[in-house]
Amino acid sequence: MSSPLPSYEEAASIVTLQASKLVPSQAHTERVKLSDTAGRILSAPIRADRAMPPFPRSTRDGYACRAEEANTRTALRVAGSIRAGDAPVAAEIAPDTAWEIMTGAAVPAGADAVAMLEHVEAAEGAIRLAPPRTLARGENIVPEGAEALAGDVLVPAGTRLTAAQIAAAASCGYAELEVHRKPRVAILATGDELVAVTEKPKPGQIRNSNAPMLAALVAAFGGAPVLLPSVLPAVPDTAEALDAALAQAAEAEMILLTGGVSAGKFDLVEPALERLGAKFHFTGARIQPGKPIVFGELRRNKVLQPFFGLPGNPISSAVTLLLFVAPVLAALAGWKDALPRFALARMKRDVTGKPNLTRFVPSICAAATAEVEPVGSQSSGDVAAFARANCFVVVPEGTTKLAAGEIARILPLGWN
Ligand code: AMP
Ligand code: MG
Repeated sequence: MSSPLPSYEEAASIVTLQASKLVPSQAHTERVKLSDTAGRILSAPIRADRAMPPFPRSTRDGYACRAEEANTRTALRVAGSIRAGDAPVAAEIAPDTAWEIMTGAAVPAGADAVAMLEHVEAAEGAIRLAPPRTLARGENIVPEGAEALAGDVLVPAGTRLTAAQIAAAASCGYAELEVHRKPRVAILATGDELVAVTEKPKPGQIRNSNAPMLAALVAAFGGAPVLLPSVLPAVPDTAEALDAALAQAAEAEMILLTGGVSAGKFDLVEPALERLGAKFHFTGARIQPGKPIVFGELRRNKVLQPFFGLPGNPISSAVTLLLFVAPVLAALAGWKDALPRFALARMKRDVTGKPNLTRFVPSICAAATAEVEPVGSQSSGDVAAFARANCFVVVPEGTTKLAAGEIARILPLGWN
């Protein structure tokens, strides 16, 4: 008798455990021009090359002075002017003087505050702090090194680079960054009914929509998709065709198959993987859609090659990729912050659950209100509805109903 299928949570923790065993090869890194690094995974930390800020920086246009003197409201003689980019003034400021200063300029030694331009009265080469304003020591100055010291790690290895980390790298003088090479992910869509996107399907045929969809998702999670077999629109449902396609996938860091994992007569994916000596971590999970999901590993050229057999229905394929493939891909890509990432939203109407399955319901979440409602027919082949969805609502196993007004977990789809 076969063992019971794992729940969603059990399957997810199996995936987490297996992902933790995978590391990107340290040799597989490359240097990339800073402007091309968005979305790449950092393989060596970004460090501050000098103190940040490198000098006490004024955060306002105004007058650098001693706060104590300014608070007496005596007139402070304006000794000079300092613009952003000027070399720091060498001498300490004289008693009862102030320096005109611009945002981003170095505050002269001796000054311990910057009075904002709008907060002073200026006349005859002198300024006075306008009542009822007072000035605190340190006001409008970021001390040297307050943000980071030379050598500090600003961004650790394993971070996926976005605009913020690129800004940090630029301010530390990185014209290039060292990033992980993208793991190659072989995508094998199986099914006799599939024709290429460019073909006009005959009666009974459909276009292969999974391959380009999965390629987009793989790219979004830091992988390099490789569509196989290179010569056909998809892998036909024969043992020979599957063996040949799997042979072509030998060099990939991971294999994704779609279709052919259900209980049908022409569902030949698992036997083909068995012929290659596959070890299966699970063959099915208590989720809907996506119940037939298969996860395991091959050993190829002494290297562990994880594989997933995703159900052929497009929405099943997408949800199982987000739930289970993404964390494994992230691990291979060197991305430390494993996915998926859930969010919270309020149900706009009731959604029913299942006693023995966690449901993932294609839905639309309104950005303005975070209210979420299911979309379309809820068939796992409804690509038209899926194209309008921006998330899945998660209905945990055993939940009879998520009622309107309740807060629910959602799995957002906006990865690109
Ligand atoms: P299977 O998992 O092979 O039993 O397929 C389940 C359903 O998904 C069937 O209706 C298939 O026609 C459909 N399907 C399988 N592969 C694809 C694909 N690559 N693109 C679009 N639909 C597919
Ligand atoms: Mg099939």
